[in-house]
Amino acid sequence: MFPRRIPYNRAMSNLDPQRHDAEILILGAGPAGMLCALTAARRFKESGLPKGGQHILLVDQGRETGRKLRASGGGRCNCTNQNAAPAHYLSKNQRFTAQALARFTPAQFLDLLAGLGLSAHEEDQGKMFCDQGAAALCETLEKACRKAGCRFLTGRAVTAVTPPAEPGGAYRVETEHGPLLAQRVVLALGSPAWPALGGTDIIARLAGQLGLPHAPARPALTPLELSGPEGALCRELSGLSVIARLSLAPDSASGGAAYTDGLLFTHQGLSGPAALQISSHWRRGEAIRVDLAPQADVPALLREPGRAKSLARSVIAELLPRRLAEARLAALPTGLADRRLAELSRAELTAITELLTDWRITPKGTAGMARAEAASGGLGTEAFSAKTMQCKSLPGLFAIGEALDVAGELGGYNLHWAWASGFAAGQAL
Ligand SMILES: Cc1cc2nc3c(=O)[nH]c(=O)nc-3n(C[C@H](O)[C@H](O)[C@H](O)COP(=O)(O)OP(=O)(O)OC[C@H]3O[C@@H](n4cnc5c(N)ncnc54)[C@H](O)[C@@H]3O)c2cc1C
Repeated sequence: MFPRRIPYNRAMSNLDPQRHDAEILILGAGPAGMLCALTAARRFKESGLPKGGQHILLVDQGRETGRKLRASGGGRCNCTNQNAAPAHYLSKNQRFTAQALARFTPAQFLDLLAGLGLSAHEEDQGKMFCDQGAAALCETLEKACRKAGCRFLTGRAVTAVTPPAEPGGAYRVETEHGPLLAQRVVLALGSPAWPALGGTDIIARLAGQLGLPHAPARPALTPLELSGPEGALCRELSGLSVIARLSLAPDSASGGAAYTDGLLFTHQGLSGPAALQISSHWRRGEAIRVDLAPQADVPALLREPGRAKSLARSVIAELLPRRLAEARLAALPTGLADRRLAELSRAELTAITELLTDWRITPKGTAGMARAEAASGGLGTEAFSAKTMQCKSLPGLFAIGEALDVAGELGGYNLHWAWASGFAAGQAL
């Protein structure tokens, strides 16, 4: 049976304010945790609960809140995306995101920003960036939570959560500095991605303790690493950026994921939006097809009568930056590049088309969690309500943000999921 809302104060006799206990503990003061706290605190105030946000305590291991949020978008904070919809999320159950996304749209987030005195502008592909930057957004959100009465306990790593021994009792949260008790607990502890910014594997450990389903975390949105001749070519071209289409085979686990976006050559391999996006789907040993001229119809271009006298080399130079053109030309049979298109056989024209549109690379791996902007995997969504984010088997326990098995594409989708799921739980607490 789905848990009903527990009346407040029923378990308050167990709680000791001197020990920082609270009615609601939000574990993790990242974007999901803070938006959840702010939503709940404002709701309490509107519904006349005398203490408003003082019912809420946010606990975080970090000395400062929202370290990933502060670093987001290289400090520019790609805070949402106008196209937020389930199709932009990786999850065992992609539809899980639908209700929360419908109840908290990008427009609602932008309204919330405006209410906080901040603004955002749109760039390509629906990406919205906070005009005041990532650090300002994080600080403003924290300030708004404090103003609404919420309290913060930072520098406290959570190590365990034990459910109440009897219905309506308190959850016990173990931290490195002693236990905390609360009637309701929100798991907003993120994923193991980018540990230098606070990513930890605590969610996997809590899933084990609480008997909740958990999909192993995998790095997402992380650079690709190449070795051998391909690695050497990337090193040679390091710093160069082009628009490319990266795709996986239609019969791969990803069902043929494909992205057309910026591709950046680096000393380690490939980065930039297209490489980061495909890394979320790539499995070790799989080949990635790189189309270096996605905006051109190369076979048609090579057959244009007006180009019959052009050298193959000059057509390639027209489509690719000079350094890349030279590097790719080396892969053609000797002499072919310096022949006129009219002289080439069908097989030779195909070889040129493939050189431009079907470069096959097999990364040796990825930069892993160390440089992953997100992680797929996390708490199994089947254990949670898609409307409230509350656990179906443990009343009073909620999970939001990246702690759940939901990972967004690049472009503001991850932060939007943090906001939307945080809002859903904040409405239900
Ligand atoms: C470098 C970088 C850039 C990014 N840029 C963007 C972007 O521009 N747009 C976008 O949409 N997404 C971006 N992301 C992804 C986005 O930041 C995350 O998806 C988002 O922060 C997830 O929010 P969250 O609140 O669920 O988790 P988090 O932001 O990870 O917050 C979880 C909190 O829990 C705390 N915590 C973890 N373990 C413990 C523990 N054991 N005890 C106590 N506290 C703990 C952490 O300190 C952290 O404060 C970026 C990520 C990175 C790493």
